[in-house]
Amino acid sequence: MKAAVFIERDGVLNHARSERHYQVSPITLDDFRLNQEALPLLQKLKAAGLLLVATTNQPGLSRGYQSRRELDRMHELLRATFPLDDILVCPHDETDTCSCRRPKPGLLVEAGFKWRLNLDHCFVISDKWQDAEAARAVGCTSLLLRSPWNGVARSGLVLPDLAAAVERVLRLRTTKPLMAA
Ligand SMILES: [Zn+2]
Repeated sequence: MKAAVFIERDGVLNHARSERHYQVSPITLDDFRLNQEALPLLQKLKAAGLLLVATTNQPGLSRGYQSRRELDRMHELLRATFPLDDILVCPHDETDTCSCRRPKPGLLVEAGFKWRLNLDHCFVISDKWQDAEAARAVGCTSLLLRSPWNGVARSGLVLPDLAAAVERVLRLRTTKPLMAA
C-alpha cells in the first residue's frame, strides 16, 4: 500500500485573502495566485515516493458563487504547476451535511479507497484546524502550519511553514517506513 501527503489548497498551495475570522478562497483564475515556493518542496516529497493529493472545501459550488468551469481552470493550472496526483474537492455547504466537508474526513477516506492508501502512514499538511481534526479521525499524521486558523490545536504538530512541515514528513517517513508489499 502507498502513502500520501494530503495538502490543503487555500493558504498552502495558493494565496488566500483573510477577512476578519475567515480565509477567502479565490473564485476566478485571475485571482488564483500560486505559492511558487511550494514547488521545490512538493518535488522533494514526490522524490521520496509519496503520492501528493490536494484537498479543498469549496462551498461556493453549492452556494452558487463558484462556477465549476472556473474551478476546473484553476485546477488545471494547479496540476500544471505542481506534481499533484489528485485534487479532491468538497463542493458542499455546511447545510448539505455531507461526509466530506472538513473537519469530516470523507475526502481522506475517498482517497484511501481510490489510491489504495494506508492512512496510518499518510500525512496531512494544512493551515487550518479542520484538517488536523480530519487527520486525527482516520489516523493520518497532521502537520499544521502556524496561521490564524489553527484553532485550539489539540493534537499533532504545529510548524512555522511549509518547508519545516516537508522536512518533518521526510524525517518521520524514514523512521516509520512502509512494510514491503
Ligand atoms: Zn462535502
